[in-house]
Amino acid sequence: MNKSSPPSYPSSGKMLQSLFTEAYKTAKQGLCGDRVLAAKNKVEQRLKICSHCEKYNSEAKRCTVCGCFMLVKANIETSECPEGKW
Ligand code: SF4
Repeated sequence: MNKSSPPSYPSSGKMLQSLFTEAYKTAKQGLCGDRVLAAKNKVEQRLKICSHCEKYNSEAKRCTVCGCFMLVKANIETSECPEGKW
């Protein structure tokens, strides 16, 4: 990420759409009796990948592609990286 310019995030509408998509997938997962929260090693692996990603804002701990707070998103089993990195 370029340190000289402030990070930009997706529009509020796009972030809201992502939030509803994630909430739907998580609710469906939970209703099916499947794991909702990711295993600790999976969370650590995801966060490690994000920490080396040029789209990651390490100060805000947010992804600049989806706008998500990665400490939350990485813990949800059904979450996916919008760039296909995890
Ligand atoms: S979710 Fe994907 S695109 Fe976003 S910061 Fe993490 S690795 Fe990068």
